[in-house]
Amino acid sequence: MASAPRTVAVVGGGCAGVLATRELLRGTDDRIVLIEPGEPGGGLAYGSARPWHLLNSRAGAMSADPDDAGHFARWAGCSPGEFRPRTEYGQYLRAVFADVAETFADRLELRRSRAAGLSATGVRLADGSEVRADGVVVATGNPAPAQPAARPDHPDYVADPWAKGALEAIPSDAPVLLVGAGLTAIDVALTLTATRDRDAPITAVSRRGQLPLTHTEVAAPPVGLALDDCATLRDIVRAVRAEAARAGDWRAVVDGLRPYLDELWTAFTPDEQDAFLRHLARPWECHRHRMAPTVGARVAELRGEGRLEVRAGGIRSMTAPAAGGLLVELEAGVQWFGAVVNCAGPGRLPAAAGSFVGSLLDAGQARVGPHGLGLDIDADGRLIGADGRVQPDRRLIGPLRRGAKWETTAVPEIRAQARHLAIPVG
Ligand SMILES: Cc1cc2nc3c(=O)[nH]c(=O)nc-3n(C[C@H](O)[C@H](O)[C@H](O)COP(=O)(O)OP(=O)(O)OC[C@H]3O[C@@H](n4cnc5c(N)ncnc54)[C@H](O)[C@@H]3O)c2cc1C
Repeated sequence: MASAPRTVAVVGGGCAGVLATRELLRGTDDRIVLIEPGEPGGGLAYGSARPWHLLNSRAGAMSADPDDAGHFARWAGCSPGEFRPRTEYGQYLRAVFADVAETFADRLELRRSRAAGLSATGVRLADGSEVRADGVVVATGNPAPAQPAARPDHPDYVADPWAKGALEAIPSDAPVLLVGAGLTAIDVALTLTATRDRDAPITAVSRRGQLPLTHTEVAAPPVGLALDDCATLRDIVRAVRAEAARAGDWRAVVDGLRPYLDELWTAFTPDEQDAFLRHLARPWECHRHRMAPTVGARVAELRGEGRLEVRAGGIRSMTAPAAGGLLVELEAGVQWFGAVVNCAGPGRLPAAAGSFVGSLLDAGQARVGPHGLGLDIDADGRLIGADGRVQPDRRLIGPLRRGAKWETTAVPEIRAQARHLAIPVG
């Protein structure tokens, strides 16, 4: 007798949730309930982007379909080498979702709701109802942003630059401090200077004062690197540096390493992983997650005009004078800013867990993974509970796999993880 079809609840309908839903519908007979309070295909990267925010990958890397690398470029009508707007990629994900919703209408249900936690029989929703499900895929995106130790509770401190309306409220004559100098800081600087009326400067400060590097117009083909003789993290760094010096373009070496990064990361000892996080992760991210050439040119222009300054160093304190704004003690002394915008990347768990992930941790249905970067999982992406046991039908996809994996936030990795979800595991 044929067994009854299973129901799988996908929690979160951003990029990862949409790709997971697509692969599960195409690759299994399961009925899928996608739980997402907003529009599927929104999410942090593509749902809150502005027209001047470009993808930091070429169109040829951004296909939703693991079997069809040209899917996005064809949909966008562009060449695979172009850097397209992130808003357009959001439209693409919505089109991908609309397509599967139409094709698999009899097996797909969209619940416009927020998940509050997991029950023995499915997913508890914030409105008190329950989605009954045999399996669950957690696709709720990044942990909340990290906050500087000196974080003030003040209206001129923007804790989350992605929050709706957060940047629009900043007056154009107020000097602004960006805490962080990565891709988020670049996004914020582009938004604050999108119109000419900003005449006050923007300062970005980070420990190293290092901005992301820039893609070239035409990509150099990735260079493979033999690391078989490397026994330690130190050996690997030496080999990568030597090859980067030899290759015409270091980007080719960085790109060539990408398929092996998870293998390298998991082979490191915990101490090596820790050393990598403390000393190498930031320079690595600057080389690996690069700005589109036009974004790099715009940033150079803003710096050349004195509208954007980048400084190395920490923030010692922030205090709120009665007249408004914030007095910030930087390495060079105390300086007044009309607004301070937190541009740090994702925070560590458990502190940065949202309410849903927090409830999984509280209930022992998940445990914090290596270095607090994400949740603990097995090789098939199944959550590991507080008791160390694998949760058979509860799987994780996307940025919260970080720690167990290294490369898990970009579309090529997410679509591969989504495909893997459709393969039954024992
Ligand atoms: C600014 C930025 C730019 C990027 N640019 C690129 C790029 O150019 N190329 C590339 O390959 N990658 C890029 N990435 C990385 C990558 O594409 C994203 O990390 C990816 O979008 C992650 O998808 P996600 O679905 O896990 O998270 P998100 O897209 O953030 O989606 C999470 C979803 O979960 C929902 N959700 C959260 N909690 C609940 C709950 N309790 N119940 C129900 N739903 C919930 C949210 O509403 C949201 O829709 C970028 C990332 C960022 C942040």
